[in-house]
Amino acid sequence: MELEVEDNNYMINGISLQNIRNRFEVIVIKLMEKNFPQFAEFDNCPICTEDVYALSLSRIPSVYVKDVSQVFDDDELMTENVEEIVKYAIFQVMSNPKHKHKKGKSKET
Ligand SMILES: [Zn+2]
Repeated sequence: MELEVEDNNYMINGISLQNIRNRFEVIVIKLMEKNFPQFAEFDNCPICTEDVYALSLSRIPSVYVKDVSQVFDDDELMTENVEEIVKYAIFQVMSNPKHKHKKGKSKET
């Protein structure tokens, strides 16, 4: 996975906003890695993993528009908030996967 992709779309007035973007993405990925084992029912398949990632990031923009310097001053609190978002996303995707379970893991009664 390339985290250092050059992307001029994140330039405005000669200022790169890409680092902010990467920062949240990296935090989300690390938190996904950390929290996946805690959700025993999560199947860890590529579709669900991507969905958790996308859903997590889609819930973060309200943080982006806040005072960025403040966000970075309080990195620990930031990570805590993002972790709640990630856990929620894992739970949502786990409960409603976009695919049928193929591993025969589901307990349909
Ligand atoms: Zn899946």
